[in-house]
Amino acid sequence: MKALVLKEKGKLAILDMPFDEKVGPDDVRIKIHTVGICGSDVHYYTHGRIGDFIVKEPMVLGHEASGTVIEVGKNVKNLKPGDRICMEPGIPNMSSRSVLEGMYNLDPDVAFWATPPYHGCLRETVVHPALFCFKLPDNVSYGEGALVEPLSVGMHAVKKAQVRPGDVALVTGCGTIGVLAGLAALAGGCSKVIISDVLQPKLDIAAKYGMVAVNVKKQDLLEVVKKETAGWGVDIVFEASGNESAISSVFKPLCPGGKVVFIGMPVNPVPLDIVAAQAKEARIETIFRYANVYSRGVALLGSGKIDVKPLITDKYKFADAVKAFDYAVSPQPRSVKVVIEM
Ligand code: ZN
Repeated sequence: MKALVLKEKGKLAILDMPFDEKVGPDDVRIKIHTVGICGSDVHYYTHGRIGDFIVKEPMVLGHEASGTVIEVGKNVKNLKPGDRICMEPGIPNMSSRSVLEGMYNLDPDVAFWATPPYHGCLRETVVHPALFCFKLPDNVSYGEGALVEPLSVGMHAVKKAQVRPGDVALVTGCGTIGVLAGLAALAGGCSKVIISDVLQPKLDIAAKYGMVAVNVKKQDLLEVVKKETAGWGVDIVFEASGNESAISSVFKPLCPGGKVVFIGMPVNPVPLDIVAAQAKEARIETIFRYANVYSRGVALLGSGKIDVKPLITDKYKFADAVKAFDYAVSPQPRSVKVVIEM
């Protein structure tokens, strides 16, 4: 079948790949419809690796996907051919301790699409466990379905923060994940989300969602936080930039007893001011991908509490997938999510 293959760093092509996948009793076969391009896909393209995950063999890219069920295994009860679904891309070893402990995202053996050595889903069809497939409501498009993946990252961060009704949150970093974390925080009960970045077109998108958008090139973030919280500070900081200076000053806007959730991944280790955290008894949380949130993300899209449609800014056909990636390497600031339709 045709697939978008990263042959090696910087070398991407649509190739015929000899996939011969059998549908097991608990699996479904899916005709892929829409795949979002993620920062990690782009990073593998430009760098050939992320940390210890190194592309050594040609690898199919893509993990943010939706599609249509075309075949179901004999044990599958929740899905039937024709169903429109989105797919959670990380499959743990179901008999691992991480699964029993409820944190299957941390299973060292998790097979995650487009993370070496596992192929991704930018191809005609995939076989996937039905348990990790989620039916889309009729009012949710395939494009929105593909965005459940990055939304899940934001939702997992909000769960980790244990948002209380009325909390005020600050999101540092207004990329796709930052905006989606902000939307998840609002849907989860935050009364206000302040979001910061240096790229005005991205902030403008967040402002349309009612977030207080702060361009840190022009405005003093701490002053805005003071004004918006009557001097108290924000209850939660979601650090979604991975930027060294944002990380090292992360406790400054926080209220006493506040929480910080680290979402962004800095390229290099960043020192943290422990005393600054202690002076506020800050609670620190981190996340790695997500667990147990996918169906909730779908439900939030279906209910209309979260609208991700404005975030789908660029659409490409599969035949132009290489072009789509070349655009995603250095997109215009107005672009949020680039998607490829099969
Ligand atoms: Zn992603």
